[in-house]
Amino acid sequence: MTDSRPPAVRKSVRPAPAEFSIPQATSAQLKEEQARLASSGLAELGFCTKDLARAAALTWRINALKKLRDAVIPGHVYQRPEILLGVADFVGDSYQLAKLCAESKAKTIVFCGVRFMAETAAILSPDKEVLLPAPAAGCSLAESITAADVRRLKAENPGAPVAAYINTTAEVKAEADVIVTSANAARILGRLFAKSPRVIFLPDELMGRNLAAALGKKVGDELVLWKGTCIVHDHFDAFAMALYRKTYPGVRILAHTECSPELTAAVDFVGGTGDMMAYVEKTRAPFYMLVTECGLGELARTRFPHKRFVFMCRLCPHMKLTDLTAVLRALESPSPATRVTVPAEVAARARLSVKRMFELAEDTVKL
Ligand code: SF4
Repeated sequence: MTDSRPPAVRKSVRPAPAEFSIPQATSAQLKEEQARLASSGLAELGFCTKDLARAAALTWRINALKKLRDAVIPGHVYQRPEILLGVADFVGDSYQLAKLCAESKAKTIVFCGVRFMAETAAILSPDKEVLLPAPAAGCSLAESITAADVRRLKAENPGAPVAAYINTTAEVKAEADVIVTSANAARILGRLFAKSPRVIFLPDELMGRNLAAALGKKVGDELVLWKGTCIVHDHFDAFAMALYRKTYPGVRILAHTECSPELTAAVDFVGGTGDMMAYVEKTRAPFYMLVTECGLGELARTRFPHKRFVFMCRLCPHMKLTDLTAVLRALESPSPATRVTVPAEVAARARLSVKRMFELAEDTVKL
């Protein structure tokens, strides 16, 4: 397994500017914080006393500043464990985070994830300040397609509704008819097909091929796809599955829907990260293997300490850009690059597409 922890915990802590000033933690407070982090699951993941002490100095300040600034921290399941277990207020997949951000009453959202997720929060909460601690945290899927590409696809396929994966920019969301996530894509596409013989799904080609197979639709004729891929899920080796099954008899292999159809055909369960966690919770097996970004496996180890996990994972370089130091800096003195805003006209159209997702997924979210 690839270890995602160091260099997550950096030594330096920048002093807060006067407007967001908080007193220094006492040594008793830091000890208490260190004990809290250890029992949160970080000790189980291999954080030593030194790691925990460094993390505690940062998490204590972040949690204090969070209260002072009336901020919440959503954390995507692929984030570093010290973020998810130390400072996040809610942890989930893109869909869960979009819902929780829309429902949150906090003034500020400090999004521990990647840019398209922070943009989605800004689209759903135009009155809130949205901060992205690592402004360079992008996504290979979101960057694979532009709004002009979507307009061209629509012109080439007149009348076909456009379902855009949530891993897209605000501009692309604004061009779509509905947004989908890995948790609800099959359901929503099924509903679109009930009214239209042809549907456009973008930008993830591999996920699109998996959806076409699940829905019994022909790629190209019925389900029109784009050529984007996730740099993490695109690289797993389908042929290694047989070897893992021999080495770990009874292993249940779960793969993310962004993996290739060759790989998803060789596993026991295919779904989004939330579905994968629910599957592990509800089933009994001697071993589980989660074929996705490493953060999910680490989180699963802390949530299900009595289950055994075999690791076949890859790190997402975008997700791992956020660390505790960046979160603290965003709360203390957010730079212009950290602030995520979406032009009002784009946000209004993108909001309709996201709202349509909640309607078609039959979810109740107040927007
Ligand atoms: S794991 Fe893939 S889809 Fe998720 S943020 Fe990284 S590049 Fe994008």
